[in-house]
Amino acid sequence: GVRPLVAGNWKMNGLKASASEFRSMLDGYGEDLADLTGLMVCPPATLVLAFAQMSQDSRLSVGAQDCHAEPSGAHTGDLSAEMLADSGAVAVIVGHSERRQNHNEGDEEVHAKASAAWRAGLTAIVCVGETEYERQEGETLDRVGNQLAGSIPDGATADNLVVAYEPVWAIGTGNTPTATDVAEVHRFIRTRLRERFGAEEGGRIRILYGGSVKPSNAEELLGVDNVDGALVGGASLKAEDLLGIAMTY
Ligand code: 13P
Repeated sequence: GVRPLVAGNWKMNGLKASASEFRSMLDGYGEDLADLTGLMVCPPATLVLAFAQMSQDSRLSVGAQDCHAEPSGAHTGDLSAEMLADSGAVAVIVGHSERRQNHNEGDEEVHAKASAAWRAGLTAIVCVGETEYERQEGETLDRVGNQLAGSIPDGATADNLVVAYEPVWAIGTGNTPTATDVAEVHRFIRTRLRERFGAEEGGRIRILYGGSVKPSNAEELLGVDNVDGALVGGASLKAEDLLGIAMTY
């Protein structure tokens, strides 16, 4: 089977104190976590190093939320995948809908960032998902299919790629798709991954669901076929909620 991953995306939240609070909580709950369940936090870049240091000898791994496509250069304010790896990140989210919207990132740029992640030895967590309008228009699978084709570089494996399906209308709203709708999109993503990267490898690439996941709905959402974990925003800020979701497994 596929090893599940529950990852928290802290977005633009968290100060130094939050990292140590999180570690104390983890020490309290960590032993109850199923051995195979991967647990990750993607804090703001200012906390990646602190998180990496304080999560040594723990179940927690650390990811970042975005990277620049170039390894270095005159790009004021940007961070390269190499810098994030150097700070202790093992993964980086690319193509989150908030970056696609707020920073006008298109599939081509996301593709370049995913390649950059691989160049630096990081797992790329590539986000895809339709808007509310696209869902109403019946364009969900078209949209997701185009994002998968455009955002994921050739050469994806179960080690270097995680796909996160995040319907834009479900992010931070408390609204979630039905289990049936989640199953349809995840099955579609699985089929596309198998077609492109081979039946076996495509079968092992993790497909996370993201959008208003919380402890009370985790069992239903994570129990859906081809859902291999969750990418959790708001609820991940509380360690006990993120762990509560992870302990669904
Ligand atoms: P929420 O869990 O706050 O809806 O955010 C989901 C998300 O965007 C994770 O990347």
